[in-house]
Amino acid sequence: SERTLVLIKPDGVARGLVGEILARIERKGLKLVALELRTTERAVAETHYAEHEGKGFYAGLLDFITGGPLVAAVVEGPRAIAAFRQLAGGTDPVEKAATGSIRGDFGLETQFNLVHGSDSPESAAREIGIWFPNL
Ligand code: ATP
Repeated sequence: SERTLVLIKPDGVARGLVGEILARIERKGLKLVALELRTTERAVAETHYAEHEGKGFYAGLLDFITGGPLVAAVVEGPRAIAAFRQLAGGTDPVEKAATGSIRGDFGLETQFNLVHGSDSPESAAREIGIWFPNL
């Protein structure tokens, strides 16, 4: 079994999609092992998105992620990393995410794509350490 870090970004919380998104995670058979509604300190967002520093969307991304409460979760199950990325759909909700995925069903713009999921076991370990250091 594997763990992944999931964020329901501030757009998902603001639009009232927390229940919908958590329901999809649970219906897939994945298990919630940590769950928290929180407002994100700038330093946490910078650490989480360090790989994007210097890109054109970085400043806007940090403002967006710190701009309102989000839901952070640790999700566990067989192939949890790939399984959640399948549920999420591709980064661009219109061009890349299939209908039936979270982003494909609910998203319009790449920045406001509702969810984050770790992309590898190394990322999952790093990100779980950032968001849930006591886990
Ligand atoms: P995440 O890491 O959030 O799951 P991802 O791995 O699909 O997303 P990344 O390429 O790591 O996508 O980008 C991280 C986040 O930065 C995206 O989810 C999106 O919110 C934002 N982002 C990425 N590319 C753009 C862009 N071209 N314009 C605006 N925002 C972007």
